[in-house]
Amino acid sequence: MEATVMNIKEIVEQKWKKRPLIISGPCSAETEEQVIATAERLAKTGKVDILRAGIWKPRTRPGSFEGIGTKGLPWMQAAKKATGLPVTVEVATAKQVEDALHFDIDVLWIGARTTVNPFSVQEVADALRGVDVPVLIKNPINPDLELWTGAVERVAKAGIKNIGLIHRGFSAYGNTEFRNAPMWHLAIEMKRRNPELMIINDPSHICGRRDILFDVAQQAINLDFDGLIVESHIDPDKAWSDAKQQITPEQLGEMIDRIVWRQEASNSEELQSALEKLRQQINHLDDELMQILGQRMKIAEQIGEFKKNNQITILQTNRWNEILDRAVQKGNKLGLSQEFITKYFDAVHMESIQHQNKIMNS
Ligand code: PEP
Ligand code: MN
Repeated sequence: MEATVMNIKEIVEQKWKKRPLIISGPCSAETEEQVIATAERLAKTGKVDILRAGIWKPRTRPGSFEGIGTKGLPWMQAAKKATGLPVTVEVATAKQVEDALHFDIDVLWIGARTTVNPFSVQEVADALRGVDVPVLIKNPINPDLELWTGAVERVAKAGIKNIGLIHRGFSAYGNTEFRNAPMWHLAIEMKRRNPELMIINDPSHICGRRDILFDVAQQAINLDFDGLIVESHIDPDKAWSDAKQQITPEQLGEMIDRIVWRQEASNSEELQSALEKLRQQINHLDDELMQILGQRMKIAEQIGEFKKNNQITILQTNRWNEILDRAVQKGNKLGLSQEFITKYFDAVHMESIQHQNKIMNS
């Protein structure tokens, strides 16, 4: 009998390797009943691997609910006992690490507001020395991959073997549809640099609202993320923190069901060779684009000569506006977004200016 019962460490190890890995639970632990009821309803969906809850909440402004504190940790233990789900909480200080481990929290995560601060990350890392616990590291609130990487290095140097990444989006000034801009390219680059680390997506903190959660989650899966961490609550609108972005455990179950799970590279040779053909087409087109860009720069240099000989400034604002307007209109017809066209032409224009600058200064 004994031998067939997996201990929680084995379960955690298994979960850590499971794809997709699904973590869910409330933004904050509020009451013992809420934690246990959420856990039970999540477990019932059969879609969740690990239960999350915030015990200490780093809030942007003082005066809002800052977490139930250490007294919430036994509730997580009770939820684990009731459901068999391993549990995870956020830690930001040495004391919090110590308390979490004391109450047998199975997985720890470092929040975005902590990753941003090397002193705090180091404090957490030092507290983890000699401890065998998996750690998930959220991206810093600002779009800085070096800080994210630094946090991974600090935790790894402390001897933590199982490290994972959480992409929760980045703080961006101005109103966008997201609470935190996903800036997918940064997550993709972090994934490229750390192929050995699992990376899961946190659509809740990216969206800040529940109506677009699914789209972001699906996008992450399309981009080959290893799983999701999604906030859920038994009564989302009454949640003590992040009410707008939480969903019920049942809605979480439905969402996971609705997601189209894709494989990265299939083993099937047929699929691979079809993919290979399309990739070759992309390579050809990229080569052509580069050729054409090279030609464009040559002409820009000729214009530079002309401007130099006639003492005209490089930047001709009217002309630049004309180029952009033209491109946006054309791009629109080709199904290219205005955002992309603007970014693309900005980059081309800057390169062009640099080429002209060289001519002007020669
Ligand atoms: C959270 O997960 O509840 C949280 C505080 O997230 P973040 O660190 O991404 O803001
Ligand atoms: Mn939250």
